[in-house]
Amino acid sequence: MMLILFGPPGAGKGTQAARLVARHGFAHISTGDMLRAAVAAGSELGRQVKAIMDRGELVPDELILALVRERLQQPDCARGVILDGFPRTLAQAEALDRLLAELGRRIDAVIALEVPDEVLLSRIETRIRETGGARSDDNVDTLKRRLEVYHQQTRPLLDYYRRQGLLYEVDGTRTIEEVARAIEDVLARIGRAGG
Ligand code: AMP
Repeated sequence: MMLILFGPPGAGKGTQAARLVARHGFAHISTGDMLRAAVAAGSELGRQVKAIMDRGELVPDELILALVRERLQQPDCARGVILDGFPRTLAQAEALDRLLAELGRRIDAVIALEVPDEVLLSRIETRIRETGGARSDDNVDTLKRRLEVYHQQTRPLLDYYRRQGLLYEVDGTRTIEEVARAIEDVLARIGRAGG
């Protein structure tokens, strides 16, 4: 099973990914989490990406693809994978297709969480209040830039996957439970929830 959780920053991808991991035992590949771990570890990669992330811009495709290529070949990815925050550009999507062909795998579904920008902005304001800005890219200016980048570079991927018949859209403004149920419905429809 290979699932892409797609959507703008703050749409709830991470929350839903965690539920899918708990329920189905899929491996969770969040490129944002991997990059934050690199920053926290003070590695060479972390040093290269911190400023880019803090501005809300995208990290170069090559760096992301190297991370994903290595991660996808780890044993826990054999059963099922949720890609969260990747791919984010057409070049990443095309490279993912080539990589999966190489690995003899394919994407089963792209689940897009649809949330309007106004709702995302108010969610991030709540998150900053509640966490005291624990993430260094959790501020309103960075979120606005991340939304612009999403609309310019990432949203066009919806058409890429729609054309392939892989796209399932879910209303991401509903409660966590309702969104989770809608995602389970998609898994049932594609009939691959078991493996
Ligand atoms: P996220 O937690 O997925 O919102 O990612 C946080 C930040 O990491 C983004 O704003 C980007 O700077 C960077 N990032 C994460 N995933 C990618 C990706 N697939 N391509 C480029 N940059 C990424």
